[in-house]
Amino acid sequence: MLAKVSANLMPPPSLTEQIAITKVHSLHSLCTNIISERPYRAPHHSINLTTLLGGGPNLIPGEISLAHLGVLHLDELPEFRRDCLEALRQPLENHFVKLDRINGHTQYPADFMLIATMNPCPCGYFQSNIKECTCSPSAIQRYRQKLSGPLLDRIDITTPVLQEPDSILHRGHTTSTKQHTLAQKQIHDAIQQQHLRYHDLTRFNSRLSSLEITRYCHLTKTAKDLLSQASNHYCLSARSYFKIIKVAQTIADLELSPKITTEHISEAIQYRPQILN
Ligand SMILES: [Zn+2]
Repeated sequence: MLAKVSANLMPPPSLTEQIAITKVHSLHSLCTNIISERPYRAPHHSINLTTLLGGGPNLIPGEISLAHLGVLHLDELPEFRRDCLEALRQPLENHFVKLDRINGHTQYPADFMLIATMNPCPCGYFQSNIKECTCSPSAIQRYRQKLSGPLLDRIDITTPVLQEPDSILHRGHTTSTKQHTLAQKQIHDAIQQQHLRYHDLTRFNSRLSSLEITRYCHLTKTAKDLLSQASNHYCLSARSYFKIIKVAQTIADLELSPKITTEHISEAIQYRPQILN
């Protein structure tokens, strides 16, 4: 449900973005009108590499390019084929996909927000207060190992979602429009903060290089200390270390805070996949 509304929480695409989205979609299928909404693509886990990345006799764009400037939602992530999961690493890093096939070579944009969901274990009830989990520790380990460390390392935010009883979901429905508008405004303001800080350099915190982080992200002394302690304790990779600062900067932007504080760093640390496991 959250993944589905996420594309609408982002600001509507600019005219340049609308043209870029339409270009990719027109290569895939007949499309007569300009696409004015951010795409939301949710391919099934049985998808093959060609349909996900693109290719085939006419080198048509795949799902990752059809999700360009929008959302790619992969439900039940560990159920996807291993080659598909590993193939996501390069576009997640470079925001484009290179297709080198016997029948030709081409490159398509693939700048999407990946939203992936999975169960905590094969039966789905690990640490649930609704039902007891029936999985053996080795079955849980096998299930989680389907996702490689390098793939998880490229995911900025990982968070458990507790199963809510139906009554809460129904109650939530009445206030959801108001919350949606509030969240939309908060996100727009945070993006605006980033535009003001980076001008034409980059669009989002997530795109900052390590050098740019040193220049633009200002941590308080205690926030810096907390981050270095966590880094030693969890043996974080350099990628994870910088991802924590970038996520913390976004949390600070959502609060319109000029500095990254310990609260922002500690919240960002909790979102690292290594820490959840
Ligand atoms: Zn289970």
